[in-house]
This record gives sequence, structure tokens and C-alpha cells, in this order.
Amino acid sequence: MKNLSPKIVLLVISIVLSAIVSIVISYFIFNIKGNFTWNFVAFGFLISFVTCLLLLFFVNIFIFKKIEQLLINVKNFRSQSDNPTSSINYNKNEINNLDSEIMAWAEDRKNEIERLKKLEVYRKEFLGNVSHELKTPIFNIQGYVLTLLDGGLEDKSINRNYLQRAEKSVDRMIAIIDDLEAISQLEMGELQIEPERFDLTSLMKDVLEAQEMKATEKGIILTFPESSKPVFVFADRFRIRQVIVNLIVNSVKYGKEYGETKIRFYDVGDNISVEISDNGIGIADVHLPRLFERFYRADKSRSREQGGTGLGLSIVKHIIEAHNQTINVMSTEGAGTVFSFTLKKA
Ligand code: ATP
Ligand code: MG
Repeated sequence: MKNLSPKIVLLVISIVLSAIVSIVISYFIFNIKGNFTWNFVAFGFLISFVTCLLLLFFVNIFIFKKIEQLLINVKNFRSQSDNPTSSINYNKNEINNLDSEIMAWAEDRKNEIERLKKLEVYRKEFLGNVSHELKTPIFNIQGYVLTLLDGGLEDKSINRNYLQRAEKSVDRMIAIIDDLEAISQLEMGELQIEPERFDLTSLMKDVLEAQEMKATEKGIILTFPESSKPVFVFADRFRIRQVIVNLIVNSVKYGKEYGETKIRFYDVGDNISVEISDNGIGIADVHLPRLFERFYRADKSRSREQGGTGLGLSIVKHIIEAHNQTINVMSTEGAGTVFSFTLKKA
């Protein structure tokens, strides 16, 4: 009944009305003339039925045509939404269809507003984070410069040291700005991935060699059992180097003293899975879902003390996704962390 076309309902009403009118007419004629004739009944029925049909015709023109037009307009508006809800199953009831379209449109708008609100919060947070992160090195530089101006410049025991510290803070600022630039380029799709065929083993050995000194300072050993076997992949060599450096630096920064960072490659069909695991401090489960967000730090004090901004993993994820590949993390607090990402075999 609910899905019945209103036109059918009106037609049925017309027939019922015509029948009632013809019964009433025949009743009056019977009272006046004293006898009953079918001609009058049929005539009464015909007149009222034609009247109802004319009414139906005008209702169709003025109301249903407008409803149909409205339905088309709402449908067009809805299709322009960024994320339209899935298509609606129409039935014969135009009013129900319009109602479903409007409800779906309202739902789309609601989702859109929620998305924009989230973006606004994200934007505010982002600006807050950027200024907060830049403030620390700027205040440091200001402190060193003021001390030097207040006579420290002539004091041989601190002048060089303070200048070196100021330079370190400048480097920190440059690193943050470089990271931000990389993220915004990756997000806007400006940074093009330039894939090529290269040997992942030799790239890995390269990175490990460069990071070895930092690791040994902390007594951490970097192990790479498959270091003699070449593994060819099709990816952007420079960007993948950035990913590996970020993950290995993290494993050392958040690794335990005299711990171990292990690198493994796994053959998974068309892809190679790269696994970087450590037996460091680990990450609590609550942090895992947000770990790849910009500025997100699981252990804020430790990360800051390590000079971390929380941008590294966000860049890593963007790079891997730009390759249409995936990155995952598994971690147990106090036991260690495993990052794994895939690359296309070549
Ligand atoms: P940046 O890389 O920008 O210098 P960061 O190292 O703090 O700073 P990410 O690399 O994005 O930022 O890492 C985010 C957070 O995830 C870190 O602050 C740290 O708390 C946690 N984390 C990352 N890697 C590990 C790891 N191997 N073990 C334990 N915690 C980790
Ligand atoms: Mg990092």
C-alpha cells in the first residue's frame, strides 16, 4: 500500500466517488419518479468519473510533474556532493521517492558538515602544533643571541658554544619546515613519485651503514640477515630511502640501550614486504590508531627529548601510499615494535 502510486490511489478514489455519486443520484430519482432506471445510474457514474479524471489530469500536471521536477533537482544536487550516499531504490510512489531523496540529501549534507567541522579542528590543531614546535627553537636562539649580546660574545668560554647551540636550533627549524613542506607536497599530490627498478638490499645496506654510528652510541646493533641477496623493486629510490631512514632512526631513538633492530624482507606474491623490528620501549595500544597522524607522539616527553616532532611517520605513510602500497605497525609496550611496508617487485 505504501509503495502504491498516488495516481492509482486517486484513480481508485475516483471510481469509489463516482459509484457513491451514482448511488445518491439513483436514490433521488427513485424518490422523485418512483421507479429505478439504470440509464441515470450509468449517466451519474460517467459524469462524476469524467470529473474525477479531469481533476486527476490537472493534479498530475500541477502537482506530480512538479514533484518529478523536484526529484530530479534534488538528485542533481545530491550527485554534486563530495561523498553521495549510495543510490536509492525507487518505487512507484513519487512522493516516497522524493522523501527518500531529500532524506539522503540531508544525510549527505550532515556528513559534509561533520567532515568540514573535523577539518576545521584539524586545521586549528595543525596551526597550534606548527607554532608550538617552532617556538622552542626560536626561543632557544633568542636566549643564546641575547646572552651573547649582553656580553657573552666577549666571553671565550661560552661564545662559540652558544653560537653552535643556536645553529643547532636553526637546523631543527629547517628540519621541521622541510618535513612540513614534504607533507604538504605529498598531500597536494605535487610531489611526484618517480619509480625505477633498483636493488632494495643495496639501498638498505647503504642506510644501515649511515645509521650505524648513531646506533652504536646507544649500543644498539642493526642486523640484516639477507644482506647478500639482491632484491629488485619498482619504486622511488630517494623516497624509499627516506622511509627506511625514518623507521631505522625511530627504532634507535625509541630502542633500549644495547638492544637490536632487525631488518627482514619477505616475498609476498607481487610484492616484497620490508619489516623493521626493534626490542625497544614499544607503543601502547591506545596510540597505534593515531601513530601516522602529523605531530602525533606516543611518548611526548621522550620523543621531544629525542628531538622528535611527530612528522616522520606521517611522511612515511604518505610516501608508501603514493606508491599504492601499505604500511602497518604492531607493538607491545615494553617489548618492542614492528613496522612493515610493502613494495612492488621488479
Ligand atoms: P620526527 O620523526 O618527526 O623527528 P618523531 O620520531 O617523534 O619525530 P614519528 O617518527 O612520526 O615522530 O613517530 C611518532 C611517535 O611514534 C614517536 O614520537 C614515538 O612516540 C612513536 N614511535 C615511533 N617509532 C617507534 C618505535 N620504533 N618504538 C617506539 N615508539 C615509536
Ligand atoms: Mg621519527
